[in-house]
Amino acid sequence: MKKQISVLLVEDQQAEAIVVTRLLSHSAYGNFSVTVAVALADAIEQLGKNSFDACLLDLGLPDGHGIESLRQVRSVDGCIPIVVLTGNDDENNGLTAIETGAQDYLAKDFVNSRTVSRALLFAIARQNTMLGHAADAQTDMLTGLPNRRLLSRDFDRMSNQFDLLSVALLDIDNFKTINDLHGHLIGDRVLQHVASLVRDNAGNNIQAARFGGEEFTLLIPDSGIDATVDYASDLLSKIENATLEIDGKSISVTASIGLTSVRNEEGLDESLRRADQALYSAKHTGRNRVCVNDA
Ligand code: GH3
Ligand code: MG
Ligand code: MG
Ligand code: MG
Repeated sequence: MKKQISVLLVEDQQAEAIVVTRLLSHSAYGNFSVTVAVALADAIEQLGKNSFDACLLDLGLPDGHGIESLRQVRSVDGCIPIVVLTGNDDENNGLTAIETGAQDYLAKDFVNSRTVSRALLFAIARQNTMLGHAADAQTDMLTGLPNRRLLSRDFDRMSNQFDLLSVALLDIDNFKTINDLHGHLIGDRVLQHVASLVRDNAGNNIQAARFGGEEFTLLIPDSGIDATVDYASDLLSKIENATLEIDGKSISVTASIGLTSVRNEEGLDESLRRADQALYSAKHTGRNRVCVNDA
């Protein structure tokens, strides 16, 4: 079966838009559906409203200035694969387009059904591979949670976005003993199990990450410290009660949480330092509990 591919064609000249639409509709490489935008503003509006698999972008637009149009499309959609269509074939322009974030560059003189559909398909494949690599660099391999690098970006974004933000540092209790008793592979399964409970309880607003080892972070927006303590205590009960069955063994785990609220202008490191002090208190007063450091 041929693939379904939705394309945003940004082209001001109606005759050319009709030609390209026809070439794509007869393509042997995929079932292309084409939406035409006749100006840059129109394209930006379409990208905000709908999701497309790729964009074919003419650089000669009434409200755009050559490569600047590409820059603008890129700035409203950082992910969409873009193939630039141009009337003047020039290697330098082509290279500039790629450096500005396009996946390919096609001269209109060379466009036929095969070249245009292959350019789009290859652009989609190339962009998927690249974004996959970008996602890998921000994802913890074992648990699939965001890693520390993404945590730091999420912190910057959320501390700008929300007036109230809390940071929780969650650390599995006596995890070394779990590794020692059951081996590292089962230890890994326990980490995945706790990570999925953390993720499932985070919903859309709370950002969870694997900070490292058996430590996780939660960025909790828009709730006062009491509500945050309730949330954290509830998460710890869920972890305690969700026994993991592996190879005929029942493994129970508990965790401890250190909590703090982020203050104005304060960075991630400072918030984590305070959360870590609270975690230390939780560990030293019996584990499986939440402690707050808001001093
Ligand atoms: P506490 O209750 O005080 O937190 O004790 P703990 O045993 O959990 O803490 P400790 O820091 O002594 O041990 C953490 C252990 O976590 C040591 C390390 O080998 C293990 N660990 C870190 N990362 C991984 C991992 O990816 N997989 C497994 N299986 N173990 C890991
Ligand atoms: Mg044009
Ligand atoms: Mg630890
Ligand atoms: Mg631990």
